[in-house]
Order: sequence, then C-alpha cells, then structure tokens
Amino acid sequence: DHLLSQPPSFKKKKEYTLLEVLGRGGFGKVVRAEWKPLNGEVKDVALKIIPKKLVRDNPSVVLDEINVLKGLDHPNIVHVWDHFESRDKYYLTFELAVGGELFDRITERGRFTEKDAAQCIRQVVAATAYLHAHSIVHRDLKPENILYKTRDPNSQLVIADFGIAKHLEPNEELTCTAGSVGYAAPEVLTGKGHGMKVDLWSIGVIAYTLLCGYSPFRSEDKEEFVRETMKGKIVFHERYWKNVSQTAKDFIRALLQVDPHKRLSADEALRHPWLTTEGAADVDLS
Ligand code: ADP
Ligand code: MG
Repeated sequence: DHLLSQPPSFKKKKEYTLLEVLGRGGFGKVVRAEWKPLNGEVKDVALKIIPKKLVRDNPSVVLDEINVLKGLDHPNIVHVWDHFESRDKYYLTFELAVGGELFDRITERGRFTEKDAAQCIRQVVAATAYLHAHSIVHRDLKPENILYKTRDPNSQLVIADFGIAKHLEPNEELTCTAGSVGYAAPEVLTGKGHGMKVDLWSIGVIAYTLLCGYSPFRSEDKEEFVRETMKGKIVFHERYWKNVSQTAKDFIRALLQVDPHKRLSADEALRHPWLTTEGAADVDLS
C-alpha cells in the first residue's frame, strides 16, 4: 500500500545529490539538492524529506500536501515538481526559493517601509485569493512559510508549506485546530468551525508585524493569548505607528476582525486601497 501511487523508488533517489539543510519544521527537514532527472537538465531544488515514522499515525498529511499543490499554478505559490518514497522516507521536490524566509528579513530589517510591506502583502493576498478560488485554505500562513525567490531586496515571494492545507467543499467547515498559535484566527483558537477566512486573519497579523516589528498579540501564556485575541482590540502604539498611514491601519483592522463574516475576503483585501494605491505612502520608518 504505497501512498504516492508509485512503488518505493530507490532509483529516483539516485537522481538527487543532497546538499545543505535549508530549514526544519514539524515533519522533518528541507535540503537543497541537485536534481538530474534522466533526459532532463540539472536543477537546483528544495527536497522535503519526511521520515515515515514521524507521520505513521497520519500519512495523509504528505499526500494532502502533494494533491493540493499539484493542480496549482501561480507565480506566488511554490511549485512541486516530483515526489517519491523510499522504504523509510517520503520525498517532495519543490522549486527552490533561494532568497530565504520572510521571517529572516523581518529579523534583519526590524520593520519594513510601507511600500515594501504593501508589496509583500499584495503578493501573499494574490496567492491566497487564487487558493481560495480553488477552494483551498492554507491554514499556516506565517513569515516562516513565505519565501523569497531570489536574494534581491525586491524579489518576488512564494507561499510554501501546504502541510496542513485543505480542500474545502462549499460551506464545509474544519474543526481541528491547526497552524501556529501566533497567527491563528480566533475561531481556530477556540475550536469553532473555520474556513477560508482564517488565512486573512494570519495575513493581518503578518501585515501588522511587518509595519512595526512586533506582533499585535503578545501574551506569553496560551490562555491569556487566546483571551487577548478574542477581544479583537488592535492597538497602534503612537511611538511605533505615528508615521504609518491610516490606510494601512484600516487594512489591518479589516483583517483582524474577530467575526470571520466581518473580515475581508481575499478578493476584497486585493481591492483595498492599501494594496491598490501605487506605493502606498512611501514613508521611511527607520
Ligand atoms: P514544515 O511543514 O516542516 O514547516 P516547510 O515546508 O515549512 O516544512 O519547510 C521548512 C523550512 O524549509 C521553511 O520554513 C524554509 O525555510 C525551508 N524551505 C521549504 N521549502 C523551501 C523551498 N521551496 N525553497 C527554499 N527553502 C524552503
Ligand atoms: Mg513550515
């Protein structure tokens, strides 16, 4: 009973030369690799390696990630090119994003100018609108899962890590809690049914963080954190936010709505003035 519709392939593995580790996550690691498919050109790729023993209880997470990504084609969504398995591991071959995580650029820069933040968020929202139009909810949008294609400061971004993404039937709701607490919508934290709108909440948290360098909800204790999130009180501290446009704050408030019905959809977010006004207030925040 092979999960990936092909027999365990030790041959496939020989097409790859593993290089350095790019990142680690919940289910194993991602390494840079050189891929020499038969009759193909040599490609630098990101190879996600998942030990089977780590997903023994729920191997469908691997299959879900592949199935969700296979049908997608968008400039801001990571491409999956191949997948195979050996006796004890699953392998997923991704387009290599060499520019690193958005997370690291926030750490390096402290905060983004409004123009750069809007440019980044516009791409994330565009990818999310595309996903939602294909009935897919990502559920784990956060700066660790958003990658720069190149090292260039203005590089395009791709959304990665579809490990807990789900295809949703019309009106279907998910109830299992998932994702990272810091970016999780109130309806996820409280175990209520949730749908597409959870991604918009996460984008709101990311946008806030990009513009000031810290998170909108900062309680250390999990229960306290949930209570803080549920209040839906978004504070823009004068000291850090005085140079940020009203349009940007408006955008964030519209995404960090506790009631998912009041929260902007991805399409609505794309049409918000903060993302449509060319170079939304180019204020230098440094
Ligand atoms: P997990 O589900 O374990 O979090 P991810 O898919 O998020 O796995 O990968 C973990 C890390 O590996 C990412 O945060 C990123 O740093 C790196 N990574 C993942 N995919 C790529 C890629 N296509 N190109 C470059 N780095 C990647
Ligand atoms: Mg991840």
